[in-house]
Amino acid sequence: MSRVAYVNGQYRPHGQAVIHVEDRGFQFADGVYEVWSVFDGRLADFDGHMTRLHRSLNELRIDIPMTREALGRVLNETVRRNRVREGLVYLQVTRGTARRDHPFPPEGTAPSVVVTARSLPLSKGDASAKKGVAVITHPDIRWGRCDIKTVGLLPNVLAKQAAKERGAAEAWMVDEMGLVTEGSSTNAWIVDEHGKLRTRDAQANILQGITRAAVMALIADEGLELEERAFSVDEAKRAKEAFYTSASGFVMPATSIDGVKIGDGKPGPIATRLRALYLDRAMRDAI
Ligand code: PMP
Repeated sequence: MSRVAYVNGQYRPHGQAVIHVEDRGFQFADGVYEVWSVFDGRLADFDGHMTRLHRSLNELRIDIPMTREALGRVLNETVRRNRVREGLVYLQVTRGTARRDHPFPPEGTAPSVVVTARSLPLSKGDASAKKGVAVITHPDIRWGRCDIKTVGLLPNVLAKQAAKERGAAEAWMVDEMGLVTEGSSTNAWIVDEHGKLRTRDAQANILQGITRAAVMALIADEGLELEERAFSVDEAKRAKEAFYTSASGFVMPATSIDGVKIGDGKPGPIATRLRALYLDRAMRDAI
């Protein structure tokens, strides 16, 4: 099946979908992105990701390229044309194409919009979630505005590559205080040694995950105790459970950190339950 990408108003065969060499995304990583998971051809957490997109664009003063409704139609159409039933749809908006110069280009320069979609069978993630995955820790060398979903992801790329080279699925980034910030492309959680759910507070320099927010609502519904408070690498290694959340991985149990077994080395009951609840809710509410 041939893939199709949306680029600035046109649906193009994947191999011919190109962006200008002087696009600000390519030259300066001057752009933002979002990723939605797709269930049965529909988008999960549609409003959450759309709201964060608008916030990211606003923080960087990039013009909103089209209305929510129009963008929604482009996302759905890209999913449809790629025949994705279960998978991901990716959107990138950059400050557009202009002669390479650091300051913002002239007013009225159109933002660039790229949308791609790909299939990712749910069964693949479910198989990993049943066994649990390994996590490593890695210094957090990112900038001071990790709350904006920018395409400046080189530190995240280096962390994820380090994880891969050590046979792990994710890297948890660690600040100068020895506290975990978040994963390279996920939010980090533990069930601490006292049985309390912990995740880094949103005031810290982290991305406010849409899945993180959805899981928080589930935790409240379940009457579980949650503390939005930083945890150290040591606390994580002593935790009863560890897991991470993202639009592409949902809730993923981590069964080792830097080779240290977490709990009994099997996916824990809380992470397993939250994964099931999240998937139920996301499938029901996808649009
Ligand atoms: N943190 C980072 C650094 C991320 O890149 C992501 C997702 N791409 C997340 C957290 C999880 O966010 P979400 O649940 O919205 O996918």
